[in-house]
Parts: sequence; structure tokens; C-alpha cells
Amino acid sequence: KHEYEEEDDSSPTKKQHGHGEKVATHYNTLQETGLAARSQSRIFYMRNFNNWLKSVLIGEILDTVRQSHRELSVLDLGCGKGGDLLKWRKGHISRLVCADIAAVSVEQCQVRYECMRKRGHPNERIFSAEFITADCTKELLTDKLKDPKMEFDVTSCQFVYHYSFETQQQADLMLKNACERLRPGGYFIGTTPDAYELVKRVETSDSNSFGNEVFSVTFQNKGAYPLFGCQYDFNLEGVVNVPEFLVYFPLFEEMAKKYNMRLVFKKTFSQFFEEHIKNDQHKMLMQRMQALESFPTDNKNKSSSDNLDDYGHAKEK
Ligand code: SAM
Repeated sequence: KHEYEEEDDSSPTKKQHGHGEKVATHYNTLQETGLAARSQSRIFYMRNFNNWLKSVLIGEILDTVRQSHRELSVLDLGCGKGGDLLKWRKGHISRLVCADIAAVSVEQCQVRYECMRKRGHPNERIFSAEFITADCTKELLTDKLKDPKMEFDVTSCQFVYHYSFETQQQADLMLKNACERLRPGGYFIGTTPDAYELVKRVETSDSNSFGNEVFSVTFQNKGAYPLFGCQYDFNLEGVVNVPEFLVYFPLFEEMAKKYNMRLVFKKTFSQFFEEHIKNDQHKMLMQRMQALESFPTDNKNKSSSDNLDDYGHAKEK
């Protein structure tokens, strides 16, 4: 049981502070489980699938921006422990800024980056990187950047933006952080839970929660879904158990116009999968990453560290 679960959220002080501290504490104290334990976990394929999806999305967007610009700069907003470092390396970017609210995760991310640099081939030009600990829903990243005039080609916000929908101010500030230093023609890409699906599932459930033996989602108030602060608790095999907020996409799209952003595409994971799995390269990557249970896999390799990177993700080759 994590510390934050015992906190009383109804007190006005707690409301004022918001959930940032809880989120940071949660991610900071997440234990790194061994590779074998992770690979045996029932969520092994789901993790790999999410990782495959991010790899394809990031690869495509980097290819797109590279057509107009060669030296690519990226902001990884909510970088966590650096789960996407290998993707940035594979995408041959030049500069990366990693930001996250959880200081321990940012430190681990930096250590991983430094290991990557040390172990890399002497001829390989690995991107330079900067690491920032900040609540990106409350603090302006430009105030923390070494070069406040730095511009990005891509901001990537993977499984993070929903934490900002606690209040309008927080959602707006995170959006500002994501977009204000993008070059014209730059992209903001991200993945976030599908609010329509969540509401549909809770509305068709007998209670205020739904799930199975692996995960559960519990809404604070079924039947009332405010635009901001619509909280639900997500629990995944004890791996994630932290308050999240619904992101009503049409509102997010409207809010982004303030930062001169226009929607290029929005897809559900299943739509993205259907479209991309037709491509042989993506299909091969999916097999290598063991991202679908039904794909034939070599069981000998399933928990082998040869197949998994330092984060317990399947290695991209
Ligand atoms: N993007 C990483 C990935 O895909 O592997 C990590 C995703 S993890 C599910 C969510 C991350 O969002 C955590 O590292 C958490 O600390 C970060 N986060 C949550 N709220 C944040 C905030 N207000 N500012 C910055 N980072 C935040």
C-alpha cells in the first residue's frame, strides 16, 4: 500500500496541493522488478504492445519532421525512467530534453542515458540530453531549460497528459509546456486513455468500477463527468495505482488552438494497430518485441535478458 492511499483528500489543504505529490511519490517508489518477474507477469504482452505502439508512432513522426529538418530536438514530457530513450537513439535525434515530476525517475533516466552513451559504439553520435524535474502542470519548462530559447521539432507525452486534467489551469500549463517551444511545423504526439471507452464501460457496469483479475478502474462519481477533475483510480496488478483524470478530447483539441496547434490525427490503439500491422516492418517489430500473445514466440527467449532492454521492455533491433 502506498503512502498516498492513506491521505485524506477531502481536506481543503490537500485539494489545494492537488495530486502532483501523490503521482510523484507513486512513480518514485515504484520498485524495479527483475526481468524474469516482469516477463512472467500477465501484463507482459500489454507492456510490449504499448511499447510497440510508441515505437511506431515515434518512428513515423521523426521520419516526417526529418524531411524538412535534419538535426532534430525532442521534448519527452513525462519521460519517466527513460522508457523511450532507445527510440530516440534509433530515431537519430540530436538533442533530447527529459522532464518529469518524479525526481527519482528523472535520475534513473539520466543514469540510463549515460550508460547508453558509454556503451555506444565510438563512431555513433548519440544525442545530447538535459534532465529536468518539474511538475509540468504547474511549472514553466522554459524557466528551467538551459537555453530558454531552445526549440523542439517534437514533443512526446506518452501516457502522461491525463494527469494534468485535474484542473483547467494545470491542463493548460502542460499544453503550454508541450507546445510553446515547438518550431512551426513541429508535432505534439502522445498517448492517453480513451475517455469515451472509460465512460462507456463504467456506465454499463453494475457499480462505479469495472475491470478483470488484472486491472480495475474505479470512478469517484458515476454518472457525473465534469470536464476537469473527473477522477478515476486505475489499478494494474499493483503496478499502477494512482489517481487519473478523464481527458475529453474535443475540449483538449479546442484548448490546443490557443497554442496554434491543429489536430493531425487521433486514433484508438486498435485503429492504430489495424492500420500499421499491414506494414511488414511494423509487423516484424511486433514479433520481435513479443507484443502479441498469439504470435509464435520462442519460449526459450521469452524471459531472456537478450530480448528485453533495461526497462523490461522488449528490445528493438
Ligand atoms: N512516458 C513514460 C513512458 O511512456 O514510459 C512514462 C509514463 S508513466 C505511465 C507516467 C509518467 O508521468 C510518470 O513518470 C509520472 O511521474 C509522470 N507525470 C505525472 N504527472 C506529471 C506532471 N504533473 N509533470 C510531469 N510528469 C508527470
